[in-house]
Amino acid sequence: MAQIIDGKAVSAAIKEQVRDEIARDGIKAGLAVVIVGNDPASRVYVNNKKKACEFCGIQSFEYALPEETTMQELLELIDTLNNDKNVNGILVQLPLPEQLDEKAVIERISPQKDVDAFHETNVGKIMIGNYSFLPCTPAGCMELIHSTGISVSGKECVVIGRSNIVGKPMAMLLLHENGTVTICHSRTKDLAEVCRRADILVAAVGKPNFVTADMVKEGAVVIDVGINRLENGKLCGDVKFDEVSEKAGWITPVPGGVGPMTIAVLMKNTLTAAKLQK
Ligand code: NDP
Repeated sequence: MAQIIDGKAVSAAIKEQVRDEIARDGIKAGLAVVIVGNDPASRVYVNNKKKACEFCGIQSFEYALPEETTMQELLELIDTLNNDKNVNGILVQLPLPEQLDEKAVIERISPQKDVDAFHETNVGKIMIGNYSFLPCTPAGCMELIHSTGISVSGKECVVIGRSNIVGKPMAMLLLHENGTVTICHSRTKDLAEVCRRADILVAAVGKPNFVTADMVKEGAVVIDVGINRLENGKLCGDVKFDEVSEKAGWITPVPGGVGPMTIAVLMKNTLTAAKLQK
């Protein structure tokens, strides 16, 4: 039976470190969160980010814009936030309504305030291993892997998913720690066979119960990034938890695994941004 990797505990420890450093060094840090439209899931994320800011002693500025916001209005707000000395980090909650060009919006954020690390400058820096911020979800997954005490070095690592937000940067972080990394996607042949090679398996697919026990090596570390809402309203990951937990060595639950880590790393990145901008 797998040991459960407790994302709530690991994320709480990170937030406490951020809170203690802010209090100890009298650091003034501010995070602006921009939300456009009425997506209920985005609303929940934004509220959680606000709560985490309060806990850490980070000032939070929330900008809730209407669904019909234009590109010009959003870019003007980002310019204002880029120039606001009280704002150290800017986060635009994705997805954005259709009329807004996500790529152009991300590129408008000052790379020094891009606490999500989505700006191409920061993506490039991550690629060459010279970065200030790491993208929140993959960095959170790395913290969870570290919490097992298992070293990534030399391990077979398989990441399912190649999005710019999760899959690709996740693979890069595993590579930085000397894992032997394979990235899988919808065109991968013999996916189960590739996954069975993994000492560390990261699922970022967005399909409920996609990873089954026959895809998992005995004793593997399984990190489930997926957040899927079932018809009955319950959240579930990409990994079929009941059967995979019988076979894996370590596993993250959903909820309570990767989810809380993303926000904890966001707090850490905002503190880093405040220190860099000082
Ligand atoms: P995307 O939809 O952008 O990417 C999904 C990836 O899965 C794609 O690369 C796709 O391949 C691949 N894929 C889809 N079907 C298959 C298949 N049958 N076999 C192999 N690969 C497949 O999703 P994201 O990366 O943005 O998110 C992934 C999941 O993680 C979602 O559930 C999301 O909600 C969750 N998430 C959780 C976060 C957290 O804080 N815990 C934060 C961000 C995301 P292809 O490229 O070929 O289409």
